[in-house]
Amino acid sequence: GFKCGIVGLPNVGKSTLFNALTQTAAAQAANYPFCTIEPNVGDVAVPDPRLEKLCEIAGSKQIIPTRLTFVDIAGLVRGASKGEGLGNQFLANIRECDAIAHVVRCFEDGDITHVEGDVDPIRDIETIETELMLADLESLEKRVVPLEKKAKGGDKDAKELLDLMRRCLDLVRDGRPARLVAIAPEERGALAGLGLLSSKPVLYVCNVEEGAAAEGNSFSQKVAARAREEGAASVVVSAKIESEIAVLPAEEQKDYLEAVGLEEPGLNRVIRAGYTLLRLVTYFTVGPKEARAWTIEQGTRAPQAAAVIHTDFEKGFIRAETIAYEDYVALRGESGAREAGKFRLEGKDYVVADGDVLHFRFNT
Ligand code: GDP
Repeated sequence: GFKCGIVGLPNVGKSTLFNALTQTAAAQAANYPFCTIEPNVGDVAVPDPRLEKLCEIAGSKQIIPTRLTFVDIAGLVRGASKGEGLGNQFLANIRECDAIAHVVRCFEDGDITHVEGDVDPIRDIETIETELMLADLESLEKRVVPLEKKAKGGDKDAKELLDLMRRCLDLVRDGRPARLVAIAPEERGALAGLGLLSSKPVLYVCNVEEGAAAEGNSFSQKVAARAREEGAASVVVSAKIESEIAVLPAEEQKDYLEAVGLEEPGLNRVIRAGYTLLRLVTYFTVGPKEARAWTIEQGTRAPQAAAVIHTDFEKGFIRAETIAYEDYVALRGESGAREAGKFRLEGKDYVVADGDVLHFRFNT
């Protein structure tokens, strides 16, 4: 599955947010089996209102949402790349994640110590990003030397990789994250393969005081502007509100949300933003038993999409019966879609689109 690591300086609200995420998931456990792999790893359901529509049309018995894994990565402090705090362990944990949710403190509270003295989210972002870039700098410099030898010897792959590494090095030396590197689409895999920390997609989670949960505040505005400049994303939440909502029964949640001026829990936005950040899309399978969402990366072809359900579906793939979500809803299900000519048989080169309702035909 896809993993999103939660990082941030101490006392910014990471644990509060992580606990709210997993408590919400635990509260839904009646419908959605919740699993905690380790104390700091939680699997959360990706909220998707389309599932309810599909379930209603097909008369499915249950809804099974797709899931995203969040990892609470504690222990990052200034100097982590030099082994301060839990430095190296922490960096290794980030390396295993596909994206980073970076919690930044945007609330003032004299009772809660800020490790850097006062509230300044941009400085905090730079503190953490500097540690990630220093770790990348060290790992790149170590690997460039042997690669230069190989490239000189005429190894074409080594040459290409070296070129990519040098472009990353230029950025990181300049104090800019490797995710800003200009790459050709076909270099995406190679960049991921470098295992750089600052090349991972980032979502800033602005933890604001309760009164600012709906609109944000001047701190979160600064973070949003920064995110726009540097190819990151940002969302506003109040970890405190989220932790209070998480333990309420569903019917009371609605009233509570209304009272604080929110349409839905901020965590839903965090989960969805994480999903977008990872370049993930959803397809559906719908039947009398269940309406279910499945996660694939953008650009995945039908047989590989089928493999998410079962590897046999990929091996024996014949065709994917395909209906776009909008057609399925507008035409009230499969037979309506067939009559209207909106039912397609797609082959092995078909790139699955977000919202496709699929049924795989395969040989066993
Ligand atoms: P972590 O070290 O980043 O995991 O931070 P915690 O989640 O443990 O939070 C540190 C302290 O800040 C705890 O006492 C929380 O109750 C408090 N805290 C977290 N979020 C907020 C918030 O939005 N407002 C206020 N006033 N306190 C918060």
